[in-house]
Amino acid sequence: NASLAQVDADVAAAVAKELERQQSTLEMIASENFAPSAVMEAQGSVLTNKYAEGYPGKRYYGGCEHVDVIEQLAIDRVKALFGAEFANVQPHSGAQANAAAMFALLNPGDTILGLSLAHGGHLTHGMKINFSGKLYNVVPYHVRESDLRVDMAEVERLALEHKPKLIVAGWSAYSRQLDFAEFRRIADLVGAYLMVDMAHFAGLVAAGLHPNPVPFADVVTTTTHKTLGGPRGGVIMAKEEYAKKINSAVFPGQQGGPLEHVIAAKAVAFKLAAAPEFKERQERVLHGAKLIAERLLQSDVGAAGISVVNGGTDVHLVLVDLRNSELDGQQGEDALHRIGITVNRNAVPFDPRPPMVSSGLRIGTPALAARGFGAAEFAEVADIIATALIAAAGAGTLADDTASELRSRVTALADKFPLYPHLNDDAAL
Ligand code: PLP
Repeated sequence: NASLAQVDADVAAAVAKELERQQSTLEMIASENFAPSAVMEAQGSVLTNKYAEGYPGKRYYGGCEHVDVIEQLAIDRVKALFGAEFANVQPHSGAQANAAAMFALLNPGDTILGLSLAHGGHLTHGMKINFSGKLYNVVPYHVRESDLRVDMAEVERLALEHKPKLIVAGWSAYSRQLDFAEFRRIADLVGAYLMVDMAHFAGLVAAGLHPNPVPFADVVTTTTHKTLGGPRGGVIMAKEEYAKKINSAVFPGQQGGPLEHVIAAKAVAFKLAAAPEFKERQERVLHGAKLIAERLLQSDVGAAGISVVNGGTDVHLVLVDLRNSELDGQQGEDALHRIGITVNRNAVPFDPRPPMVSSGLRIGTPALAARGFGAAEFAEVADIIATALIAAAGAGTLADDTASELRSRVTALADKFPLYPHLNDDAAL
C-alpha cells in the first residue's frame, strides 16, 4: 500500500508540479476542462483491475456483475441526457469513437465528406495520414471566404458530385453552430449516412444551450472530457438500427477490454451534466466566450491587426484572427503562456502562415467556468488577453514590466478560485 510518492518520487514530483501548474495558471485550451473530484475518484478506482470484454450481461469474463451495473448506468444516463436510442460508452477516446463509427458504416475505399482540417475539421474527419484519410476516399468541404461559415452550398454540390456514403458534420475549431437539418437534407438527397461529431460542443447540448444533433444524425460521436467535463474518453450514440453494427465495430472490431474505471467516471459525469448546476456553468461558458470576443473586437485590438474569426462566437471558444497582424500564432501563444494563460495556436481558414506557426489562437472558456469564473472574471481575463496581444504585436514578444504586471493580474484571478485545494496535501506527501 505504498503511496505514489514512496514508490516513484519522479512521477509523483511531476504530478505535483502539474497540479501546481493547473492551479496557478488560467487554462483556456478550448478542448480542456477540469474533471470534478468525484469523476477522478471513479477513474482512480479498483475498476482499473477488471477485464470485461463484451457488453453488460454478455461478457467474455467472469466477475463482471458490478461493472455491468456501472456500464449500464453510463449507457442509460447518456441516452437520457441526449435523447439517443442507443449508446456505446466503451470508446477509449474521441478518435476511437470516430474510427469505430466509420468502421461500422463504411468499407475501405468508400467516399466521405468532412470539414477540411485547415478550416476547423478534426484529424479523424479525413486528414491524409490519419486512419480516415488512409482508409476512405475523402472529399473535404470548407468555410466560405466571405464570412468564414461552413459553405452548405458547397456541401450540397460536393455531395451531388461525389455521392459520399457518409457525411461528417463537426469541428475542432469553429465558433458558430452547424445547421444539422440542412446536413440531414443533403445526406438524404444522396443516400448518405450523417455522422455528427459533437466532441467540442456536447456539454452545451447537454445543457440545452446548443441544438441537439441526435434527432438529425444516424450516428453521433463525442468525447467526454471537453465541454462535457468528464474523464478522457469517447461515446457513440445512434439510431437503434445501427446498435449491433456499432457494438461489434467497437468490440471486437477496434478495441479489447473496456476501461471500466473510465466508464464509471463517464457515468458520474453524465449524472452531473443532467443537474441544474451544469446548465448554469455552461451559461457562464457561453457568456465568457462572448465577453472575450467582444473585447478582442474593440478598436485598440483592431489597430494591431487583430480580429475575431466569424466576428464573434455562439459556442465555448473564440478564434483570434492574426492574418492581418505582425503577431503570429506562435508568438501569441508564447506571450500568453508567459503571463500564465494557456491557449493553443491554431490555423485559421485561408491562413497564409504555415500550420506550425499559424495565424490564429483558439481560446476556450470551459475550464475557467468549471473553476467558478463568472462575468466579472471573464471580463478581466478578456482585458488581460487583449492587453497582452496588443503589447506583443509590435515587438513579437512582451516587455518584462508588461509581462510581470499582467502575470500578477492572472495570479489574482487564479487565487480567487482555488482549484482542487484538497489535493495539495496529497501532492506534498
Ligand atoms: N473529434 C473532435 C471534433 C475533436 O476535436 C477531437 C479532439 O480534439 C476528437 C474527435 C478526438 O478526441 P480524442 O483526443 O479523445 O481522441
